[in-house]
Amino acid sequence: MAEVKPRKPELGRGERVLPGVFRLRLPLPWPGVPHCNAWAVAAGEGVVLFDTGMHQPGSLAHLERALAMCNLRLQNVRLLVCTHAHSDHYGQAAAIIERAGCELWMHPNHEHMRRWAEDPGAALARRLEIARQSGVPAEPLRRYAAERGAQESGIAAIVEPDRDLLPGVVIETDLGPWTVHETPGHSPSHVCLFQPERRLLISGDHLLGRISLHFDYGYSADPVGEFLHSLDVVEELNARLCLPGHGRTFTDVHAHIEGNRKLVAERLDRTLAAIGRADPPTPYEIVPELTGGETSPASSSPWLIAETLAMLTHLEVSGFARRIPGEPERWAPAAPVVPSL
Ligand SMILES: [Zn+2]
Ligand SMILES: [Zn+2]
Repeated sequence: MAEVKPRKPELGRGERVLPGVFRLRLPLPWPGVPHCNAWAVAAGEGVVLFDTGMHQPGSLAHLERALAMCNLRLQNVRLLVCTHAHSDHYGQAAAIIERAGCELWMHPNHEHMRRWAEDPGAALARRLEIARQSGVPAEPLRRYAAERGAQESGIAAIVEPDRDLLPGVVIETDLGPWTVHETPGHSPSHVCLFQPERRLLISGDHLLGRISLHFDYGYSADPVGEFLHSLDVVEELNARLCLPGHGRTFTDVHAHIEGNRKLVAERLDRTLAAIGRADPPTPYEIVPELTGGETSPASSSPWLIAETLAMLTHLEVSGFARRIPGEPERWAPAAPVVPSL
């Protein structure tokens, strides 16, 4: 019988993926998502750093280790750019700009991060309340609160961007200029960065090698609709190589865009089918159908509740579903439109 060895603790690692482009792989404490990427791109005497890794004990040393493997130091960072304000892409921003003395550029719609970082307890309470209204029973709610209650935000300190990362802003590097493209959906603050001559795309969490969906629910009108539109935005760029926020680079960018569209369409179909039953279900009751029949304890996690609510909201905005207010709320197909005489 094979001996089961304990998993080695992950270390920050750096590697050159193209001349002047370095992948910095930084460890994360999350099950199923062992690391995230920051990207360093040569710019004159130093580099532009895209994303930061999460703030946790020892995390700056992981970033320094990854940079050192590419013959770089934190002091070489001339500019910090964040694709979005999630902790794994923004968490170390305060520490980096302090050490490097550089500016931070990020999209202005980062209210979702501020609420989370300022008061993780209040943000957790809000998530729990949404979950309760969505029909999650008391016991899994209590368990989730106990597990999450002790967690840190993963953000060293809240720092405002020196410059709003909006279309029209250009990031100069030795590989040429990078343009800014708003891609909300995964998060309201999400942007992708594109280098047109080389057709390189820094995609953050908008496009990942392993297709997985996440929507920041509750900060905009229709995150799923925004995400679908953002896929169109990125498709128009016709990128040749994608440098994602997690995992390896990939070239079949168009296939990944199509894969995301297909997955969203499947989940919308399943959601619509689930609300077609005689008894209008709660969002919680829809979760197992949304994920293809899996009935793991994770079905009570606010993560999946948020995705389910995002799907329902998109169906509502598109005229296919209606919310039946109550405690908990329930969902049904939209009333058929009766043509007026
Ligand atoms: Zn993210
Ligand atoms: Zn991420």
